[in-house]
Amino acid sequence: SEVEIGSFIERIVKKFKGLAGVKEIRISADMDQPDAVLLIDPDRMEQVFTNLVDNALRHTPQGGEVRIIQRSSTNGTVFEIKDTGVGISAEELPFVFERFYKVDKARTRGRAGTGLGLAIVKNIIHGHDGKIEVTSKLGQGTTFTFFLPEKK
Ligand code: ATP
Ligand code: MG
Repeated sequence: SEVEIGSFIERIVKKFKGLAGVKEIRISADMDQPDAVLLIDPDRMEQVFTNLVDNALRHTPQGGEVRIIQRSSTNGTVFEIKDTGVGISAEELPFVFERFYKVDKARTRGRAGTGLGLAIVKNIIHGHDGKIEVTSKLGQGTTFTFFLPEKK
């Protein structure tokens, strides 16, 4: 269905305000075209943002920042979820979208996470004919970038 980018993203930010506040992490959205409309499955796309923002907050220390950026591009829209967290090493980076993959078993031990989040995210993006990639630097942060094609 048709979803306005601005209200959709603001709702995601609102949903995580409390959790971010507790960790003293700034969360914000920066949008090129907040009044543009996307033709998406809103529940599934909310799952995408929820997974990515949840990951970002969980791997970012106190005082850090999580940003959701939207910009229009040729034939579609690009979203970035950027954090200033612990990052992912170049060796681990190729595997993060694999099912059940968790980078640091010790660091994440005892948490309910299954390692399925990013596999589901990738599936949903592909289901929207989009694509997703990740860049990261250990100790500096991680950026997930995904593209959604315009649909008529
Ligand atoms: P689930 O999402 O199923 O609860 P999960 O968060 O462990 O579990 P994924 O979302 O698939 O699983 O992420 C896989 C792994 O990638 C994580 O366990 C974590 O090690 C790493 N990771 C994901 N996002 C980030 C990030 N923003 N910064 C640092 N590491 C990350
Ligand atoms: Mg996750």
